[in-house]
Parts: sequence; structure tokens; C-alpha cells
Amino acid sequence: MMKILDTLVIGAGISGLSCAYQLSQNSAKSGYDLLVAEAQGRVGGNIVSQSQGGFLWEEGPNSFSPTPALLRLAVEVGLKSELVLADRKLPRYVYWQQQLMAVPMSPSALISSPLLSFSGKLRALMGGLGFVGPAMGSELQYQAGEETIAQFFQRHLGTEVLQRLVAPFVSGVYAGDPQQLELRAAFSRVANLADMGGGLIPGAILMRRQAQFQGKPTADPQLPQTRPGELGSFRPGLAALPEAIARHLGERVKLQWQLTGLSLTAQQTYQAEFTTPEGPQQIEARTIILTTPADISQSILRSLGPQLSQTLQTIPYPPVACVVLAYPTAALRHLLMGFGNLIPRGQGIQTLGTIWSSSLFPGRAPEGWHILTSFIGGATQPEVGEWSEDQLVHQVHQDLSQILLNHSATPKVLAVRLWPRAIPQYTLGHCQRLQTIHQELQKLPGLYLCSNYLDGVALGDCVQRALTQADEVQRYLESH
Ligand SMILES: Cc1cc2nc3c(=O)[nH]c(=O)nc-3n(C[C@H](O)[C@H](O)[C@H](O)COP(=O)(O)OP(=O)(O)OC[C@H]3O[C@@H](n4cnc5c(N)ncnc54)[C@H](O)[C@@H]3O)c2cc1C
Repeated sequence: MMKILDTLVIGAGISGLSCAYQLSQNSAKSGYDLLVAEAQGRVGGNIVSQSQGGFLWEEGPNSFSPTPALLRLAVEVGLKSELVLADRKLPRYVYWQQQLMAVPMSPSALISSPLLSFSGKLRALMGGLGFVGPAMGSELQYQAGEETIAQFFQRHLGTEVLQRLVAPFVSGVYAGDPQQLELRAAFSRVANLADMGGGLIPGAILMRRQAQFQGKPTADPQLPQTRPGELGSFRPGLAALPEAIARHLGERVKLQWQLTGLSLTAQQTYQAEFTTPEGPQQIEARTIILTTPADISQSILRSLGPQLSQTLQTIPYPPVACVVLAYPTAALRHLLMGFGNLIPRGQGIQTLGTIWSSSLFPGRAPEGWHILTSFIGGATQPEVGEWSEDQLVHQVHQDLSQILLNHSATPKVLAVRLWPRAIPQYTLGHCQRLQTIHQELQKLPGLYLCSNYLDGVALGDCVQRALTQADEVQRYLESH
């Protein structure tokens, strides 16, 4: 008779591994068993760190916000001494009207910044204080509390802030289009500020007061101390985290196990079918957590949860290419001291943004060299998904030549990775979509979805959601 597993986790990206890690910690007490099945021959999913010839680079995410949950996980799997934090004072730049301009990080920096005109600053100040224009979406959308990022910021802070600060930031996080993304889904904190105070400034003041009233959470002495605005990575690259978690899980992680089918048994357990190097395999489990991207999950759930599957199908993932180029110091027009630069659309540049990787973290390039990691494509230019590697390198190099390089520079091409379905887009209607997903999941007890298409794409969000999900699964197992 086939043994029935307690929990089957599908996918060994950061979501699946964090979830499995938390379950394994819980199971030390409860004795529940688990398995992680990953289709690829490596763990990490979107996280891809590579090194060669003294260069170390990332082809997916480049850094994380050091949230307590992520830091705790890193420390527990033995990465405390490998943590590196970028200097939070390093400026971030926006390329506007053929100049790199530092993004103002404080109200006083905003007042003196050349990035906004005098009238643009005045408009932002008035809107920030709460003199906010009328809602611009259709009446129906607005009644449902749905507004795009563009509509919201246009109303609150004006066109200049939207075009020159918000839109490039949206490119940087989602490779997204502010005209399409839903504010409340993509930037819930900003939506909450406006809900609290009418304008963003009173909202921020109220939120700060509330936080002061609640008192500062006591810092965990086991965790490295970090400050707001810092970005983290690990000395060997981000892949160190999934690899360390997988080592901790050991034999419970199965590579090259691709889930191909899922059904519900008469005993209300789940029967999963896999293709593996050893041939087809079947696993029966009391609970199953799908951490696969929406397109994979929707196809697996087509017969088990048709409405759920249809809803997942509506989440778009535009393509993004990551182009990693190295240049000798002499090729750079300026000394690179900063996080990198983002480029608003309409500036004659196709690249969305460039991370100045070797300025951000130590040990990324040999002496006398710099790594520039650029992203191109996304929701505003999905046709990039059809481009050849040569086209991608040519375009990114041409864009970098306008912004950062001496024109005679020739790049050393370290990597070109096209992500055909890169980052899920929380388009208008996403909050409604989440409600439907939640309702439909009630019909499939023991089945969980835990992935970046839900409520946060950042690595810290994925870890936090996974830990919460694992605790919920634990409660389910205990009560059934
Ligand atoms: C180009 C890019 C840049 C980014 N930059 C940043 C950044 O700088 N900072 C940041 O915080 N976030 C960034 N993100 C977002 C972040 O990387 C992702 O949200 C996060 O890595 C998603 O992790 P996940 O585990 O949910 O999904 P994934 O990493 O997609 O993992 C899902 C796993 O499921 C596996 N799988 C798929 N189908 C099957 C199947 N049938 N059977 C078994 N396994 C299967 C896949 O192989 C994969 O390993 C970036 C994302 C991309 C694409």
C-alpha cells in the first residue's frame, strides 16, 4: 500500500523552500513528513547566481530588503557570516533629459532636486497634504476601490512625480506599467496611507504616530542589525539562501520531479503524478502546496478547480531580459557610486534600468572592472521576448553608452537571460482575483497556493507568505 505523505510542496524556489523549511521545523515536534518536488535540476527558481573569471553576478533577483523573516531564515540555515548589506546612503538615479539625477530620499532633498520643476514640486506638496484631485477611473472601478497606480499618483502627486519617480520605480519592482497595475494590490502600504490621512503626508504622520504608540518591536539580538533602505545579498550571491535551505532539507528535496497531474482521492487526499529521471512516480499526500507560477498551477488545477484555474489564467507575466555586461573602469564616464539607474519611458532609451552591481556589493568583479546588470522588456515592451541575444546585448550596450559609457567601450558579455514569463502583474482587478482564489480554495481543503502572484513579489514577501502558509498547513494537519 502506498504511504500517505503529510505534505507535498511543489517547486523549490524561495517560496517552496521557505515553506518546507518552516514545516520541517514544526515537524521536529509533530513528526509530520514532507517532500519538495522541483521540476528543474537545481533549486532556487528565479534566483540564479553565477560566477566565472573573478566575476559574480545575478541573472534574476539582485538583492533583497532585509526583512526580519528573511534574516531569521538566513541565520537559521547558517548564512549569518555571509550576509552583505549595501550602503544605504548610496544614491539611486533616474535618467531624465539626458542626465542622471539622484532620486530625492527625503523632503529636503525633494525641494532641492532638479528632477522636478518648481510647479511639479508645488503640485506634489499640495497633493501630499491632501488637496487631491477627483478619481479618474470609471465610476464602477472606483466604487470597487480599484484604481491604477497611474490614476492614483496623478491624482495625489501630479504628472511629474508619476512620470519621473513612480513609473521608473514600478519598472524597477514589477517591470510593470503603472497604467495597468492596481494600486491597492501592488502598493498596499501607499493605499493605506491615503485611507488613513486623505493625503499621503498626513497618512504618513498618522502611521508614524501609531507605530510610536505601539512601541518599537524589540530587536532580535540573534539577527544582524539593519536599517531602513538597506539592501542585502550574500557573499556568494543570492543562490546561497535556497542552496542552504535545500541542504537543511536534504533527501526531502527531489530534483527533476515535474508535477504533471493532480487529483483528489475518495479519502480527500491528493494524488500527484510526476515525471522523474527514474520514470513516472505517484505520491499521495494529505496536504499539497503549489508554489509554481500561475500558468503552471492553472493547468494543473484545470479539472480539480475549474474556476480557480480560470482565475489564475488571467494573471499576466510579461517577458523581461536580464543582460549582464562587464566593462573596464576606463570605459565609464563617471565613477560608479550608487545602486544604479532607472529610466522613465520616453527618454529614447529602451532599457528599463541598470543595477551597478559591483558598486553595490563587494567581490563582484576583478580589480579594474565593473558589472552592470540591465533589465529590458516588461509590460511596456513585451516584444523583447522575441529578440535574439545579440539584439538584446546590442540594445542594452547602446543604451548604456548614452548614459554611462565612453563611446569606444566594448562590453564583456557575462550573461543574457530571457525570462519569458518574469514577474506576475497585479493588474486592475487583482484584489478581486485574490478574493475569488481564496473562496475557490475553500472547496479544496488541504490544497494551498503560495507564490509571488498573490500579494507581494519581493523575496521578503515570498518568505513571509511561505512561513505563514506553513503554519496554516500545520494547523490543518493537526485538526484533521
Ligand atoms: C528578472 C527578475 C528580477 C527580480 N528582481 C528581484 C529583486 O531584485 N529583489 C526581489 O526581492 N525580488 C526580485 N524578483 C522577484 C523574486 O525573484 C520572485 O518573486 C521570487 O524569486 C519568486 O519565488 P517563487 O518561489 O515564488 O517562484 P519561482 O522562483 O518561480 O519558483 C517556482 C519553482 O517551481 C518550479 N516548478 C515549475 N513547474 C513545476 C512543476 N510542474 N513541478 C515541479 N516544480 C515546478 C520551478 O522550476 C521553480 O523552481 C525578481 C524576479 C525576476 C524574474
